[in-house]
Amino acid sequence: MAELKSAREEIDRIDRELIALVADRMDAVRAIAELKGESPDVPLRDDRREREVLAAWSAAAEARGLSSYYVGRILRELLNYSRRVQEGLLDRPEVEPSTRVCRVGYQGVEGSYSDLALEKLYATRSGKLEKRGGYPTFRAVIGALERGELDYAFLPIENTIAGSLNEVYTLLAERTFPIVDEEIWPVEHCLIGLPGVTVDEIRTIRSHPVALQQCGRFLGTHAATTESVFDTAAAGEQVLAEGRRDVAAICSEETAIRLGLEVLARGVADETHNFTRFVLLGQEAEPVDARRPAKTSLLMTLNHRQGALAEVLGIFAARSINLTKLESRPEPRSPWEYRFYVDLDGNSADPRVAAALDEVRTHLNVLRILGTYPRRGSELDSLPVEAEPAPPSEVPKESLPAAPKSFADRLPRCARREGVERSEVRIGSVSIGGDRFVLIAGPCAVESRQQIVRAAGLVREAGGVVLRGGAFKPRSSPYSFQGLGFSGVELLAEAGRQFELPVVTEVLRSEDVERIAERADALQVGARNMQNFALLKTLGQTSRPVLLKRGMSATIQELLAAAEYIMSEGNQRVILCERGIRTFETSTRSTLDVSAVPVLKRLTHLPVIVDPSHAAGDRELVIPLARAAAAAGADGLIVEMHPNPREALCDKEQALSDGDLRRLVDEVRPIVRSLGRSF
Ligand code: PEP
Ligand code: MN
Repeated sequence: MAELKSAREEIDRIDRELIALVADRMDAVRAIAELKGESPDVPLRDDRREREVLAAWSAAAEARGLSSYYVGRILRELLNYSRRVQEGLLDRPEVEPSTRVCRVGYQGVEGSYSDLALEKLYATRSGKLEKRGGYPTFRAVIGALERGELDYAFLPIENTIAGSLNEVYTLLAERTFPIVDEEIWPVEHCLIGLPGVTVDEIRTIRSHPVALQQCGRFLGTHAATTESVFDTAAAGEQVLAEGRRDVAAICSEETAIRLGLEVLARGVADETHNFTRFVLLGQEAEPVDARRPAKTSLLMTLNHRQGALAEVLGIFAARSINLTKLESRPEPRSPWEYRFYVDLDGNSADPRVAAALDEVRTHLNVLRILGTYPRRGSELDSLPVEAEPAPPSEVPKESLPAAPKSFADRLPRCARREGVERSEVRIGSVSIGGDRFVLIAGPCAVESRQQIVRAAGLVREAGGVVLRGGAFKPRSSPYSFQGLGFSGVELLAEAGRQFELPVVTEVLRSEDVERIAERADALQVGARNMQNFALLKTLGQTSRPVLLKRGMSATIQELLAAAEYIMSEGNQRVILCERGIRTFETSTRSTLDVSAVPVLKRLTHLPVIVDPSHAAGDRELVIPLARAAAAAGADGLIVEMHPNPREALCDKEQALSDGDLRRLVDEVRPIVRSLGRSF
């Protein structure tokens, strides 16, 4: 026991050193901010420098036998923090000393998401935060701001799952307090209860109704009744006050820590990504330095005239101003008329934005600028593995001729049209078909938690951006391993979450589509199912992207007709995959049809990726085929790897080791870059 104690003391000592180092690093960051502040032409953010720092960290971490992914996450947070500190220093430091007291009101109790997000905002915003929580409603917070009891009001305005908070939008229209800042909080709902309790003992679960709604799937599988409470943190307080083993709350981990309660289950929300955006309303507008990324919010009502909205949107588009949100709400005094709330990227003091606003004003009955404020990215904006931008290409940008008319008549949805850009299809936050070449990798089959988590880490470190893994395996023999089924899908999703990788898995039957779509970011149709038209139609009714593999005896036209099946049902998010076809040649598992890549590119706007693993059937051949695919112009690769290839339960002959996967990336990258794309 004495050894344990001294080991812990050692950890405490190291942690204190870490904090001291973070403080020193922040001092250096501030010094740089001052230099930048004196030379207004130096951009605030230097992506190249950030990439170099990241590369240096990764190399140093690996040299010490540490995970470059986890160490990279620490760096990401440091960079986020540093960036905000630097931006904050640009804000009129002479006018607004950091000692100025800011009384900020919010609705809810201590530990609520509003409280947590407010702390986060003021970690780098100038002014000394004096929190005033406990207001029962949003209106009450605004009332206190009106009476001058507060300097600022902090209100949630939208959630990425539940949508806009209508009440707050109404308050923005009724009052004239400007938006002066925003904050984004990643919501991670946990089930919390008394220490030592297990999930099975819980009979009552309390939380805010929206939080309960966001955890429908978890609640559906537990025999507990739910009860609404006005605030998630208040639900936690009730659990503590009652002291009953069978009562739990859904709220943040921070609340559990603050109350001395225990996290019984994590990740209980239906969606992995759940963000709430808050706005800070002030007594008067606060100018934002031109070098800071900024947003502007508008309120407008239109002349009641045909095409008025289209004209207004056209004015922003013509000036390349990016709109990030358009919300319409009823105009209570004029039935069937609407007010529009618009958010755009840009500063209202920027001449380009100001000119656009002048022009749109002529089309509007009302235009109010609700505020210009610093744009706060969500943590997702800055994943640590950033691709290096491609060098300027020698290869001319492809011209875009249309597919032949006869083809476009037959398969109108997948046919490429004259002058229309190629489609990009997103799997989670990863875009396929754009400037960036993507690597999807993972084992043939999910075999165990340990195997898939290990694989996910290795994929991430090699530079993969999507995790693959089969849970329902279409095996040629009924006696071979058939996959873990739904529990495999769960394990895959869990591993993907842990390493921030979206996941793709195969679906064999129509009846499983909905359930797998709840967990997987993309659904794969295997070669053996390419013409299972019932399955294709069902997939056409989902909103998940579909990775459609070419059948081993299917022509390119048949592959595209299969894509058309999905698209004709409504789902336009199809990614095509060439994976080898059956020919008279027996020295490879299939024959990789490299020419399919340029042929498909000519006929369709859909992204095209290549699976060299199933084409080769032999790990030695995977890398050369991957190089060929990249050279032919594929948008990405899907390859099989295994933490321990010799023990793979499925397709072990073609499974790459992690070393092989890194080598593949090293060999493919220069080819991709020579074509003017990043990887
Ligand atoms: C797979 O990707 O796991 C697979 C079974 O591939 P295919 O359908 O191309 O044979
Ligand atoms: Mn396989």
